Amino acid sequence: MPPGTAKVFVITGPSGVGKGTLIGQLLKRRPELQLSISATTRDPRPGEADGVEYHFLAPEEFDRRVAAGEFLEHAAYSGNQYGTLRSEVDRRIESGHPVVLEIEIQGAEQIRETMPEAIQVFVAPPEPEFESLKARLVGRGTDSAEAIEGRLAVARHELAAQEHFHHQVVNDSLEHATNQLEAIVAPDLSESSQ
Ligand code: ADP
Ligand code: 5GP
Repeated sequence: MPPGTAKVFVITGPSGVGKGTLIGQLLKRRPELQLSISATTRDPRPGEADGVEYHFLAPEEFDRRVAAGEFLEHAAYSGNQYGTLRSEVDRRIESGHPVVLEIEIQGAEQIRETMPEAIQVFVAPPEPEFESLKARLVGRGTDSAEAIEGRLAVARHELAAQEHFHHQVVNDSLEHATNQLEAIVAPDLSESSQ
């Protein structure tokens, strides 16, 4: 694929639905895809490192970069700021790599306006949706009870927005959901992977 024409894939959905897990599987199958590393003001979880899971920024630094126009999208989520740095996406596209954004819904809706050619996928939990999300967030064991409650409160609105998305994948069995996600992205990878 010539430099500068690579695709952007937006993977969105509520916290705990399995976006990170699914993307991990997809990247193993399609190593030409690169995940954009987001910026956030939230504290690193144990085991997370700056520049690996996120660029961890102080709130003032995040605001400064917003004012400088450095973000492709950004949103407040459950008490913190999250955003995609233009530099993260541009350098990958310029080197011909298709880019994956793992972002929440407000950010995905901004990308729909600013980058309508990006392919957007909503990852939904299996029925009963709310209960399966809660079980996954509790089972992941990375968030306090208070943080889980905050994420579930946001999830009610996020689940209601899923019909705005052209592609939807229910993360029931990981294998089945990965197959579906791969089938969505594959047609836009064919030029670079054949
Ligand atoms: P997100 O990135 O959307 O917040 P994660 O990828 O961290 O979600 O997944 C949340 C939890 O759910 C993790 O503990 C993960 O192992 C688990 N999980 C992910 N996919 C599945 C699945 N298909 N079935 C059961 N559990 C899953
Ligand atoms: P977490 O704190 O669990 O890592 O992420 C919380 C939420 O923020 C998740 O839904 C995740 O997808 C989302 N998120 C991560 N990076 C970004 C980003 O760059 N922009 C937006 N809008 N959301 C993001």
